[in-house]
Amino acid sequence: MSGLRCPDVLPLAAPLLDGSGRRFEYLRLSLTDVCNFRCSYCLPNGYKKPCNKPSELSVEEIRRAVSGFAGLGLWKVRLTGGEPTLRCDFEEVARAVSSVPGIRRVAMTTNGYRLAERAQAWRDSGISALNISVDSLDPARFAQITGHDRLAEVLRGIEAAQAADFESIKLNAVLMRGVNDDELAAMVDFVATRDLSLRFIEVMRTNDNAAFFGARHVAGQTVIDRLEAEGWQRMPRQPGAGPAVELGHPTARGRIGIIAPYSKDFCASCNRLRLSSDGKLHLCLFGDGGMDIRPHLQGGETAALTARIRALVGTKAPAHRLHEGNSGATPHLASIGG
Ligand code: SAM
Ligand code: SF4
Repeated sequence: MSGLRCPDVLPLAAPLLDGSGRRFEYLRLSLTDVCNFRCSYCLPNGYKKPCNKPSELSVEEIRRAVSGFAGLGLWKVRLTGGEPTLRCDFEEVARAVSSVPGIRRVAMTTNGYRLAERAQAWRDSGISALNISVDSLDPARFAQITGHDRLAEVLRGIEAAQAADFESIKLNAVLMRGVNDDELAAMVDFVATRDLSLRFIEVMRTNDNAAFFGARHVAGQTVIDRLEAEGWQRMPRQPGAGPAVELGHPTARGRIGIIAPYSKDFCASCNRLRLSSDGKLHLCLFGDGGMDIRPHLQGGETAALTARIRALVGTKAPAHRLHEGNSGATPHLASIGG
């Protein structure tokens, strides 16, 4: 038997590991750094186009990139930004990504723009998991945080998404001291009664929001403590789970996740890589900048692309340096894809 090989079975690539032994299965793909909102922790003054801005990756470049990552064992892709749905070819991109062999799950993160009208079209283009940012359920507060009086429109979008039968719908809420930390119970109630899941995200310090971070950061552990006191229980970690802590409750179908990058050992379970909208590989949200892989996306051998990715991933730092007040080269999360 030793010399026989089935010709239909492709040899599996060795798993993509970094120098700390972490395995990467998840790509966060930024489609644009442009955004129409002005979230106070991200782009409080709105999007400003930089001089000499490189063009966004084309659909073909994206297809090549995702094929390269899939060849290295990544199977989940999240479309993000900026606001990914601002791209006029968003659905074409989603179809291209979801049809790459090896990609089993395509997710997206959105501020809810056009969700009410496009939910079904996005589902039909292959997206199965949706994260929608909703930092407040109070219309005036939502407008104050995002710069847009659009809560009602976003809530209509959530209903449309539920009707479109996404496999997973999660709301993302950035926790902010003195802004929305009194809404914890209302948000938990909102999702628990609608079979949705919710992620509380600690506000993260970036180079543009240091003062805001200092004034508004709340440790995710305070939320975990409150939820546990109300009968929520930590869920066992699934294989391939990222750094979120997940809690469930016997009476709720949805889960509550807490993303707490300032907690101990947060980076130990990092399983994700990021590709910016202009083709730079970011090994960490708070690293020293991206490494250009775009030349490999414009033709040539896939093997050269995968060898380059593998070599770069091997250099990933064991942990971020946020605790030292060092946000790397990241001005705001819209620049890389949060
Ligand atoms: N525009 C889309 C949206 O807002 O959902 C996708 C991009 S946004 C950068 C992705 C996620 O990052 C959102 O849930 C947003 O609330 C979160 N985010 C942005 N800046 C952040 C920060 N400084 N700290 C924590 N979360 C942040
Ligand atoms: Fe735009 Fe999302 Fe940043 Fe808000 S968090 S400004 S919606 S990119």
